[in-house]
Amino acid sequence: MHAITALVETMEKKPFSELGLSPELLRAVEKMGYEEASPIQTAAIPVMLSGVDMVGQSQTGSGKTAAFAIPAIERVDISVRAPQVLILCPTRELAVQVAEEVAKLALFKRGVREVPIYGGQSYDRQIRGLKEGAQIVIGTPGRVIDLLERRALVLDQVKMVILDEADRMLDMGFRDEIEGILSATSEGRQTVFFSATMPVGIKRLIERFGKEPRLVKIETPALTAPAIEQSYYEVDRRSKVEVLARLIDLNDFSYGLIFCGTKMMADELTEQLLARGYAADKLHGDMSQPMRERVLNRFRKRTIEFLVATDVAARGIDVDDLEVVFNFDLPQDGEDYVHRIGRTGRAGRTGRAISFVAGREIYKLQGILRHTKGRIRRERVPSLEEVEEKRSNLFFDKLKETLEKGDFRRQDNLVDRLLEQGHSPTDIASALMHLLSPEKPASPDFDPAGPRGPGGGGAPRGRDAYYDAHPPVERGPGPRPSAPSSPPPQRSAGPDTRPPRSEKPARPPADLPMTRIALSLGREHNIQVGDILGVVAGAARLPREAIGFIKLNDDHSFVDVAADAAEPTVQALDGIKFKGKKLRAKVMPS
Ligand code: ADP
Ligand code: MG
Repeated sequence: MHAITALVETMEKKPFSELGLSPELLRAVEKMGYEEASPIQTAAIPVMLSGVDMVGQSQTGSGKTAAFAIPAIERVDISVRAPQVLILCPTRELAVQVAEEVAKLALFKRGVREVPIYGGQSYDRQIRGLKEGAQIVIGTPGRVIDLLERRALVLDQVKMVILDEADRMLDMGFRDEIEGILSATSEGRQTVFFSATMPVGIKRLIERFGKEPRLVKIETPALTAPAIEQSYYEVDRRSKVEVLARLIDLNDFSYGLIFCGTKMMADELTEQLLARGYAADKLHGDMSQPMRERVLNRFRKRTIEFLVATDVAARGIDVDDLEVVFNFDLPQDGEDYVHRIGRTGRAGRTGRAISFVAGREIYKLQGILRHTKGRIRRERVPSLEEVEEKRSNLFFDKLKETLEKGDFRRQDNLVDRLLEQGHSPTDIASALMHLLSPEKPASPDFDPAGPRGPGGGGAPRGRDAYYDAHPPVERGPGPRPSAPSSPPPQRSAGPDTRPPRSEKPARPPADLPMTRIALSLGREHNIQVGDILGVVAGAARLPREAIGFIKLNDDHSFVDVAADAAEPTVQALDGIKFKGKKLRAKVMPS
């Protein structure tokens, strides 16, 4: 066992030229536009170059990748064409990012090659990369073990092992793999651990595999200061969805992550958001890897606005330019909280972290507040009036902008006809605005500030009104009870629409030609509007903008889609299994 020795704690920044780098690396760093080394780079690079073991601890965004990639590249002996440096990363996305950074830094080092290896990609390409003599291998622990077992990866020439985000790897359950990998390398190797936190699991790993490592700990703000505006709302449990929708609308959010405490809650919330017309999808633990990848890809491309996830599933999400992170359910502790919200406020932009605190969760919040030194502001739930006022302001701004720019198709004929019939211009404009005005909210009798009074909405005692108003779709066979008195609002389900919530129109422009598609399933089959929106957006990969009016009938339904997407949509939908039934789709003659 070895203790961690000699703490290097500094905030000093030096020019790269003072860190003992080769001309090739200095050139690469300059080409990348890095003007000076960040504190962790200033402190870690010389330590790593000296060959001793090291533990690096600094915040996200402080430049750790280059801090280890630069010495890694410098230490490669180009005459040996076998893995010499192994970098372990928790996720495939990180492995790819690190490999890209290594490639950029090694640009002028002829003969240095890197290869990322991770699950989900065919073995061929990775094995080829290894055969071609890559000296720097960047991989996820699972795949590294896999290739070791297949003997495609040989680690006997490895002189340096770097664990990036070691705490996260342990969180993800990679302990055995990491221990296996470290045991498969020679005792004489240099071991470097990077970790944002130092829980006991990490300390044990370091004690077991490190040789008197130097601790380099930096407590400076990140390079790209993660400015996160944090707030919380005390909300009754059954009101969370309503409050969430209000906050999304009020703030005009269109890209965010929403954390739920359980898989069931994630399923339920995703349904609710879809039914309210948000492009939402979910990510949870039981989804297969390919399914997760698909969802993540769509999220990255922003086809999905809001990703609903549990903590476990979210570990693989390396999207970090989010506008907002919602804690729909509070996390277990302060560390999880910090982890969750760290995905917003990157790249120099201010992020938002919004937490809902229901009932007894307040004690959890107190723990989190202690951990974050109380920087979470308490906020008041916005009233419907505020949301609507904001929406109409947005609408007004849009209208004004459109008029000023003149970028609309003129409808002189139509307007003239109305004028000829004696309507005043003000009346015509007002009627139009009425048609476009915000929908009424889902449940007007719903008071998000607190539980519903006895008898208020007739909700059975002991159950959440929320679940009763929106029963889960898979509630078993049999005839459906009569339709709920207040169906969920459907942003896309009527000719009326409220003004666009964001830059993108939430609905197709009125003059976009639409085609009606008939679907063979309806209410009798336990189908809801949200399901149709979901299957069309999902299976047919249509963005919300291309989906219009949805009409549910008893044994069939209709959905309008952008005319040019109609054929492919029908092809994607016709014949698939949906809610346990075969779905037939066809284009309606116009
Ligand atoms: P960490 O791994 O500590 O979270 P990264 O290595 O991902 O941080 O770096 C965060 C960001 O800072 C990246 O966009 C990276 O390109 C940039 N960066 C790294 N080093 C420097 C530097 N010396 N000067 C300017 N930007 C840097
Ligand atoms: Mg990093």
